[in-house]
Amino acid sequence: MRKVAIILAVILRFAGCSESLPLYESELRPVLIQGAMKVETDILISALAESHDYTIGHWRYVAGKIGGYPVVVSVTRCGVMNASASTALAIETFKPCAVINQGTAGGHDPALHIRDIVIASDCFNASAWKALKSAKGKGVDYRNINLIDVNFYDEYENGEEITFLPSDGKLKASALAVKDKYTAGKIIEGRMASYDTWENRVDNILFFHEKFGSSCEEMETFPAAKVCRIYGVPFLGVRIISNSAPNGEEYIPETGHECQAFVIEIVKDYVKEMNK
Ligand code: SAH
Repeated sequence: MRKVAIILAVILRFAGCSESLPLYESELRPVLIQGAMKVETDILISALAESHDYTIGHWRYVAGKIGGYPVVVSVTRCGVMNASASTALAIETFKPCAVINQGTAGGHDPALHIRDIVIASDCFNASAWKALKSAKGKGVDYRNINLIDVNFYDEYENGEEITFLPSDGKLKASALAVKDKYTAGKIIEGRMASYDTWENRVDNILFFHEKFGSSCEEMETFPAAKVCRIYGVPFLGVRIISNSAPNGEEYIPETGHECQAFVIEIVKDYVKEMNK
């Protein structure tokens, strides 16, 4: 059946009938590792053996092997839209057994400093909120908001309101199992706030931290996690603190390299556990 589908896709492509998704063949379902920017994906891409480059739309995917196991590195580009679209295309094309979204983040928790790593216990859409009413001329209090699940009314959630999306237990266990291999900072479990925003106003950051429990902010974890949930694919978020407004620590994009090196250890452990 699979052979017939592949032959059909090849014929359609040569006949110019369809702009179908690229063909990817693997006996084993790969682990998909996502990063938004070059500084968040270059180490992973160079760690791939037998690599093969794919472009779907304006998203890059590099398939290969790490420690003999199939891995696909996805360069999602920045932001919620890119993360959603590239995750859906990746799942359709590569049928991953697990997805790890990783990269840099801004600290919300003042206890976190540059190079500390947050393993997502869960994540949320920090731009999904309903404001309390306030009258004309009364000003705007940024604290008068309640988080909402914007997909609450969608049938696929069966009416269940889910504001905080948890990471997969086995992926998280692998991340915690290799914790000691990371020495450039501390590793904590925490909550990721995702939005198309770079917040620099410390009062607002601390409000999110205190009211909603966010450890850090970034732009891709929640949308990737949400698409994975829809498809039933295990998901983990991993972020390295690259800047901290509460502590006055400026952005160091190259921290993305250290995060990638740590994620390679997570993948190796996950594959080892899977093969047990
Ligand atoms: N070109 C930008 C850097 C990209 S910022 C510049 O020079 O300013 C956006 C990327 O970094 C996103 O992929 C996001 O996930 C991550 N990121 C790191 N720190 C962040 C922060 N404080 N707030 C939001 N996103 C952050």
